[in-house]
Amino acid sequence: MYPPTSPYPHPPLHQTHSGPPPSKALTNTGHTTNYFHQQNNQHLQPHLPQHHPPPTVAPPAVRPPHPSAAAAQQYTPALPTNALYDPPPQQALYCTPDAYYGQQTYHAPQAQQLQHQLPHQQQQQQQHQPPVNGVGAPLYPIVSYPSAPGSSQYGTLRSSQSPCQAPGAVPTLVGAPLHQHPQTSADTNSIAPSGDMPNHSPPYNNYGYPGMQPAYQQGPASHGDSSPSHALYGQQQPQQYAQPFPNMSTLSAALGGLSGVPELELEALMPVNLLHERSLLPDRPLEAPEPNLSPDLRKVNCSPQTFRCTLSSIPQTQALLNKARLPLGLLLHPFRDLQQLPVITSNTIVRCRSCRTYINPFVSFLDQRRWKCNLCYRVNDVPDEFMYNPVTRSYGEPHKRPEVQNATVEFIASSDYMLRPPQPAVYLFVLDVSHNAVEAGYLQHFCDSLLDNLDKLPGDTRMRVGFLTFDSTVHFYNLQQGLSQPQMLVVSDIDDIFIPSHDSLMVNLKDSLELVKDLLGALPSMFRDSRVTHSALGPALQAAHQLMAPTGGRISVFQTQLPSLGAGLLPSREDPNQRSSSKGVQHLGPATDFYKKLALDCSGQQIAVDLFLLSSQYADLATLACVSKYSAGSIFYYPSYHHVHNPAQRDKFRKDLDRYLSRKIGFEAVMRIRCTKGLSIHTFHGNFFVRSTDLLSLANVNPDSAFAVQMSIDDSLVDSSLACFQAALLYTSSKGKRRIRVHTLCLPVVSQLSDVFAGADVQAITCLLANMAIDRSVSSSLGDARDALLNAVVDGLGVYRNTVSTLQQHGLIAPDNLRLFPLYILALLKQKALRTGTSTRLDERVFAMCEFKTQPLQQMMRMVYPDMYRMDTISDQGSLHLNDTVVPQPRLLHLSAERLSRDGAFLLDCGSVLYLWVGKCVNEIFIRDVLGCPNYASIPPNMTDIPELETKLSERVRAFLDWLQDNRAFSCLFYVVREDASAKLDFFQNMVEDRSEMGLSYHEFLQNLLQQMSK
Ligand SMILES: [Zn+2]
Repeated sequence: MYPPTSPYPHPPLHQTHSGPPPSKALTNTGHTTNYFHQQNNQHLQPHLPQHHPPPTVAPPAVRPPHPSAAAAQQYTPALPTNALYDPPPQQALYCTPDAYYGQQTYHAPQAQQLQHQLPHQQQQQQQHQPPVNGVGAPLYPIVSYPSAPGSSQYGTLRSSQSPCQAPGAVPTLVGAPLHQHPQTSADTNSIAPSGDMPNHSPPYNNYGYPGMQPAYQQGPASHGDSSPSHALYGQQQPQQYAQPFPNMSTLSAALGGLSGVPELELEALMPVNLLHERSLLPDRPLEAPEPNLSPDLRKVNCSPQTFRCTLSSIPQTQALLNKARLPLGLLLHPFRDLQQLPVITSNTIVRCRSCRTYINPFVSFLDQRRWKCNLCYRVNDVPDEFMYNPVTRSYGEPHKRPEVQNATVEFIASSDYMLRPPQPAVYLFVLDVSHNAVEAGYLQHFCDSLLDNLDKLPGDTRMRVGFLTFDSTVHFYNLQQGLSQPQMLVVSDIDDIFIPSHDSLMVNLKDSLELVKDLLGALPSMFRDSRVTHSALGPALQAAHQLMAPTGGRISVFQTQLPSLGAGLLPSREDPNQRSSSKGVQHLGPATDFYKKLALDCSGQQIAVDLFLLSSQYADLATLACVSKYSAGSIFYYPSYHHVHNPAQRDKFRKDLDRYLSRKIGFEAVMRIRCTKGLSIHTFHGNFFVRSTDLLSLANVNPDSAFAVQMSIDDSLVDSSLACFQAALLYTSSKGKRRIRVHTLCLPVVSQLSDVFAGADVQAITCLLANMAIDRSVSSSLGDARDALLNAVVDGLGVYRNTVSTLQQHGLIAPDNLRLFPLYILALLKQKALRTGTSTRLDERVFAMCEFKTQPLQQMMRMVYPDMYRMDTISDQGSLHLNDTVVPQPRLLHLSAERLSRDGAFLLDCGSVLYLWVGKCVNEIFIRDVLGCPNYASIPPNMTDIPELETKLSERVRAFLDWLQDNRAFSCLFYVVREDASAKLDFFQNMVEDRSEMGLSYHEFLQNLLQQMSK
């Protein structure tokens, strides 16, 4: 796209990082060759039911003559000497089975290495400089991933009110690290070799930093409406206060230390009396706070939808952070679908020579030839090529390059960023075909959906697909081009699984399209009469791993029950009598580390495993989910799935599949997060394998997954006015291009507690706390996690009352920007993942926990505290005008049954599900004009769509629904819920402000908080 002007050669670096060791569970080396040959013929049996023609069963496949050699192959990547995941033999990598997101071990470099990194690095470059044309020259440059000392840690939510609860000197504050590892900001964590950038021309002096183009626009956060409401919390009257609330000028005076504080900040700190104020919600869904930056920096900052920090003003020191008692962390949605993305092709990707940060809008140009890194402050040369400005097609304007104009960019990477040629998109589908699966009836829907989406699977002409099915045995399908129909190969020795044919099972989709279609058409009927109840999931996954090892790719597993045969079989651990126990919940962690080990083996071969669990019974998701968590896969769960009896789950499955099969995918990915010197990462949340302190291994990356990161402040940021965070995601696109997506976020550094509070982002804080609470409920207990959430609110509001707001206020006060904090925490405590006292199936709880760890912020907030609007009175007042469409903007309503009325219709937006609740006495005009029914009684019970009627009201409602839908990448389910329908329970479960078996009402919760705070 941008013509290169002067390419620089990149010397390769040395490979030093470690990978997972071979797992014995997966190798066949324990068996002798004889065993194999003797057993071979018995193990391959024809297994095809007689009533359907395709596919044919092949004659017994011939197994490779030396199984031990074959098995060893799976740990020898098909690469030259520069294997990406070359496992060291004696590295203990796996944590104990009970660790949910276990502590992961890194290779720590020698201290001297850290101290003398640059010389060391250069030395290594010399040592490993390959002969240019020599026999021993590697085909691809060796890339370095040196690790830094330290390790991932659990969150440190405080679980007791006692400030001295934790032993020793470990701080017991929210967000404080359990221990700090030595500073690593000077590391050379290079994804690519560092280039020597010669400085050819003399530097110019006083090169100014120019104004920049707007990258995205973001309005200031809207603030709550304080108009009185007639609905009360229960019968309780609001408390009256003699003292009126302060206005802006008294507050400004009270916060006298803050000279020159912008008004927005004062507004954020305005005290709100929570017991008094009953309308806390803004009119429209809350937006991220605007960081207090200069307009120039604001304009180019990263979108909050991609990158968000819990504190939009970074405390200068850990001591100040501790004092604030608010958690510090990032919420990242790095691969989300973007409408606009600057894509840059150039020979030289400009990066800091010291910390390898990519050049970004927040670096400073000392002159035209030198730029200063905003993360480590090293002064770097501007390479010649960068002097060309592709926008104006002129030279001498490095500050106008797209890299310096956009906080989110994507580079087309050169071969320096490759360890092997980019692999094709490879998809393997692993399908449960046991009796249980047949009963659930998912197979027909899967096959229909895949047939519909075959042409939408992301990939190029090299794309490959394969299929495995399993019950008590594992079935392979030969789909090699030229066959008249698919051939089924059955391996019944599940204790010693092997691949019956190596080149015909994963086939080019284009070449074998007709065979694939034949198979998908035949599969549902092939197993229709199956009586096999067992499930050999573990062996099927082992086979899948072997099939995919040479290329990497994506394994999609569809499972309908507890695995009962072979490796990875699981006992039932759920006691239904304990589902509503308030004592604590057992078995939130895995029963075995089999699935985690398998996941790490897959991750090492660039394979991600996505799990679809469609089960009516307990299937131990806590254990099964590990296969996806550690391989950077996705987890989907459909409790009580039945294709006839549960149409809601069936529809959800179909919608999810359509999105899943066609959504963007990145392969062979790693993501590194760098931050300004002085800041460090101490815990990651999400699905991945942590390869080093700041490097995540992502075999696949998809646009629907998000990550959270807890940060700590190791060194004072006193010399910096800005803190920056950069996430770089290196991946192979489905079209076989190596790409790097880079996001950079810039935030101000502050020294005053009030400034820290003024920048608090209540939604980001809630999401990070939720992630920490999930870890806590597994590593400690659910009760502990719940206490910790409560304490986070008590602590935060306590600090505000005692130190930030010097005004003498009684009651429970919160700064305006944290006024929803208690409400959100109450809503969290009532979520399936964290609730007690009400019957919650273990798998459903575990799935909710998984969702908390991977959902993007917006999606998660809609799950925790959905958006509710009244629809029967919807008007054009205050509507948006988008092109030719008028989109009404109804006001948000609090989630309490008191806000509903029988004469109204209310929309509840839970993220992936929309409910339209229709009261018994709603105006018949609404029923007729919007629902197209003559009266309330005639509204069908399972209405999942509204008709396109040409009435004003219908147009408004549909315009609003379409607009909500357009603002998310996936399609939502929609249900019309009559007041008297059984589905109303799902709707009312979301009324989190009301007292229920799930917990206190909001008012009671506030009273409880007040009590805690006055202790
Ligand atoms: Zn740097």
